Amino acid sequence: MAVRSFQARLLFLLIAVLVLLEAGTLVSVYLAGQRTLRRSVAEELRVGARVLNRILDTRARQLADSTRVTALDFAFRDAVASADMPTVTSALQNHGKRVASDAVVLIDLNGVVTADTLSGRLTGKRFPFPALLHQAEEHGEASATVSFLERPYQFAIVPVLGPRPIAWVGAGFEIDERVLTDVERLTSLEVAIGPAAANANDAGYATLLQHLPTGDGSRVDVLLRRSLDEARKPFVTLQLQIAALSSLILIVAVFAAVIFARSVSRPLRVLADGAARIGRGDYVEPIVVREEDEIGKLATAFNQMQSAIAAREDKITHQATHDALTELPNRTLFFARVSQAIAGSKRSGASVGMIMMDVDRFKEINDTLGHHFGDQLLIEIGRRLEQTAGPNDTVARLGGDEFAFLFTTPSAERANDFAERVGTAFDAPFVLGDVAIDVDASLGIALFPTHAEDADTLMKRADIAMYDAKKSLSGVAMYEAGRDEHSLRRLSLMMELRQAIARDALELFFQPKIDVRTERVVHVEALVRWKHAVHGIMRPDEFIPLAEQSGNIGLITRWVLRKAIVQCAAWNRAGLDLTVAVNLSALDLFDSELPTFISGLLSEAGLPPTRLVLEITESAVMQDTAYALKILSDLKARGIVLAIDDFGTGYSSLGHLKRLPVDELKIDKSFVLNLSESAKDDLMIVRSTIELGHNMGLVVIAEGVETQESWGILKRLGCDMAQGYFMSPPLPAAKFEEWFGSSRWGGSSSM
Ligand code: C2E
Ligand code: CA
Ligand code: CA
Repeated sequence: MAVRSFQARLLFLLIAVLVLLEAGTLVSVYLAGQRTLRRSVAEELRVGARVLNRILDTRARQLADSTRVTALDFAFRDAVASADMPTVTSALQNHGKRVASDAVVLIDLNGVVTADTLSGRLTGKRFPFPALLHQAEEHGEASATVSFLERPYQFAIVPVLGPRPIAWVGAGFEIDERVLTDVERLTSLEVAIGPAAANANDAGYATLLQHLPTGDGSRVDVLLRRSLDEARKPFVTLQLQIAALSSLILIVAVFAAVIFARSVSRPLRVLADGAARIGRGDYVEPIVVREEDEIGKLATAFNQMQSAIAAREDKITHQATHDALTELPNRTLFFARVSQAIAGSKRSGASVGMIMMDVDRFKEINDTLGHHFGDQLLIEIGRRLEQTAGPNDTVARLGGDEFAFLFTTPSAERANDFAERVGTAFDAPFVLGDVAIDVDASLGIALFPTHAEDADTLMKRADIAMYDAKKSLSGVAMYEAGRDEHSLRRLSLMMELRQAIARDALELFFQPKIDVRTERVVHVEALVRWKHAVHGIMRPDEFIPLAEQSGNIGLITRWVLRKAIVQCAAWNRAGLDLTVAVNLSALDLFDSELPTFISGLLSEAGLPPTRLVLEITESAVMQDTAYALKILSDLKARGIVLAIDDFGTGYSSLGHLKRLPVDELKIDKSFVLNLSESAKDDLMIVRSTIELGHNMGLVVIAEGVETQESWGILKRLGCDMAQGYFMSPPLPAAKFEEWFGSSRWGGSSSM
């Protein structure tokens, strides 16, 4: 089925209505015309008949009058009385001529014609209409229509008085063409009389057959007929005029209908076109409808909708290509820009550099300080990075704490300069609310065409360089060929680590700390190991940094805490009078839920908090003193013992140290390992550290005691505790129990 437009349907409807109206008018005009025609023709015929009768009457009276005048003529009466036939005949002929009578006769009282104007044709014969004579005898005179000589005649009979009637004069007119012409002249009829009337029966005519009253019982017919064609002529003209007028009106009306339909459907079509355009995604052109009616309002609504869609689409496009938080380009847009830059540099010959950047410790910052804080930090980082960028560089946030930089550079050396400049964004501490935090980032650089041929590879290689930077703690690293494999191994290791934690594939080793005065074990330090299916037992140095980078350190810390506390509680129940020490990562100091978690473990295991020591490296404590202090104070308030690990490697000032709620100080093993009477420097550092610690009321521990000599020195210097291979390496729990039972440092004496 053909789809007809609204305009076509409207037009069709309007024209159909118009045509129907016109047709109705024409039909009714035609029918009324027919009716009127029939009626008027009948009327005409009736009038014609009356006119005919009137003419005949008048003629009969005139005939009688004039004949009477002749009959009264003196000379004529004398001639009749004296039977002077030649005179009579001449008088009759005169009379006939005068009144244009067709036949004049003199009839004697016996009814015999005595003279005539018909060359004596009737003379001597009886007058052919005795009834007429009879009537005249009775009424003095008579007139009637008769059939005479096969023709219709009007006859008048008047007496010749002397003073009584002495004879009769009869005068006859033929009802001939003259009469009929008169009638025809007065009406629009055709008239036929006599026998001719009978055969006139034509389909094209309306007829009226009239019987004229006769005086002799003969029959005279008059046929009046009206040509229907003729009669119809004015009607046909009228109908033609009406039809012409109707056609004209129809044409005008159709034009009007077309214009109306257009004017109605035009704005609709504009709307439809506009809607289709919007559908195609063109939101620029507004829909222009001049009308202010419903369609105008609809157009306004359409335009509002269009601009709303356009705005939304802009927003969506922006959202699709930009990071919602920092408003920086996202990975999609960044990738496109990298591709563009590479295409451009293939032409220009310049190098395209990209820097992949990852914020150190971000996950922990986010977890411990809250997402809001993390978000604010990312925004601020984005802002600073943008400030270091040139007008043609692109800074993007690829997701999470990953940012990226795109720049063009003439040489690789310049790329390093560039990375350094970007790195300055992290120089100043980030101050957000009442928290000031030092944030570092690791930057990996890769260059096109030196390191990669395409955008995808370039981004991957910058990523690998970034992990190198992170691992080496160098801050910035340029991609080195052949690193991909190494990087892959690290990636898969990270994933394995998560699974290892979940599957309990970690193991705790315990290393005793010996009370230097009693020479008995008092503390054990819990040290984690990873029993890796392929790599064997892995030391924490191999996977703790990995866990810190990948955000899994919290999981490890919690796993170790649970195991250590449960183990220590079990030993205490078994009579091993021990305190367990657990190492915390710097990132754990941002985990605000950690103190509550630890308290829960302790009460669950039934271990007093004083039986738990938490070792925190000096550098960890110094990284963000304000926040770390909060957590440390919280832990301290719960009765947990705090120790500063690896003391001497950082640069903590005494003032800082004083503010920390710590109980123990662990001298880093680098000062102890080679401790001897001859190593003056180490000796001096260890001695002053012990003195410093004691002055501050801290318990001082030395780790890395491998020799009898160092043990002796520490004992002499008054160190409180010692830990090292000299006494025992870290051991699995069962091995430790064996050691505890058999070693001279073991607790057997106190058992
Ligand atoms: P750390 O806290 O300084 O732990 C002492 C490390 O020194 C241990 O290495 C231990 O085996 C080693 N050590 C002990 N005595 C001697 C000695 O006489 N000579 C020498 N050369 N080394 C000795 P380990 O177990 O490989 O741990 C390395 C580091 O890993 C630890 O250093 C600690 O910072 C970290 N770590 C270990 N376990 C955990 C843990 O559960 N959580 C966290 N966050 N870090 C841990
Ligand atoms: Ca430690
Ligand atoms: Ca240590």
